[in-house]
Amino acid sequence: MLFQDLGLAEPVLKAVTAEGYTTPTPIQEGAIPHIMEGRDLIGTAQTGTGKTAAFALPILHRLITIPDNQNGYYRPRVLVLSPTRELATQIADSFETYGAGSGMRHVTVYGGVSQVPQVKMLRRGVDIIIATPGRLLDLHNQGCLQLESIEMFVLDEADRMLDMGFMPDIRRIIDQLPAERQTLLFSATMPPAIERLASELLKNPAEVRI
Ligand code: AMP
Repeated sequence: MLFQDLGLAEPVLKAVTAEGYTTPTPIQEGAIPHIMEGRDLIGTAQTGTGKTAAFALPILHRLITIPDNQNGYYRPRVLVLSPTRELATQIADSFETYGAGSGMRHVTVYGGVSQVPQVKMLRRGVDIIIATPGRLLDLHNQGCLQLESIEMFVLDEADRMLDMGFMPDIRRIIDQLPAERQTLLFSATMPPAIERLASELLKNPAEVRI
C-alpha cells in the first residue's frame, strides 16, 4: 500500500510526499482509513511507530474535506491531549509539517510558561488545539477558550496520562466536549483503567494493535 492509495486530500498527500514518505507504517495503514471515515478508534502503538501521522493526516483530511459551519469565525474543531509539553510540541510540529498547505491553524497549550502568547493565538482563531490537561483547564476556566465546537478529540499516550495522575482533569475536559464527536485513543499499553475509559468514551471503535 502506498500513501497515494489512501485517498487523502491533495494538500495532505503533497506534504507527506514532500517529507519523503512513500509507504504508510502499520499503525498508519490500519488507522488512517477508519479515521478518514469518521469512526472512533483505539490504537495500541508506541512512540516511534508513526503514530502521530496516523492521526494527524486523517484529521487534516477531514478538516479540509468537511466544511465547518462556523460562518467564517474560527472555532476549534480538533483537540489533542498529550501528557507532556515535549510530546505536545512534537505533535504540533507534525501538524505544522503535514498541514503546511492546508490553511489550518493550530496552537500548543502547556503549563510552566506564560499563558499570554497562548491566549493571543487562541484569540486570533485556531482549528486545532494541542494541549496538556492542566493548562487547558486553566484557560477554559478563565474563559479563554471554548470546547463546544470540538468535532474530533484525540487522547494520546493515555496510559502515561493515567500514570501521571491526569484522569480527573481528563474527565473534566471530556465533560465540556460535545457528545457527538469523533474520539481517538492511543496508548502503548491497555491497563484495565484505560480499557474502562475507552469503553465509556468511544462509540463502536475500530481497534488497531501493532
Ligand atoms: P511517531 O511515532 O509519530 O513519533 O513518528 C516517528 C518518526 O517516524 C517521525 O520522525 C516521523 O517523521 C517518521 N515517520 C512517520 N511516518 C512515516 C512514514 N510513513 N514513512 C517514513 N517515516 C515516517
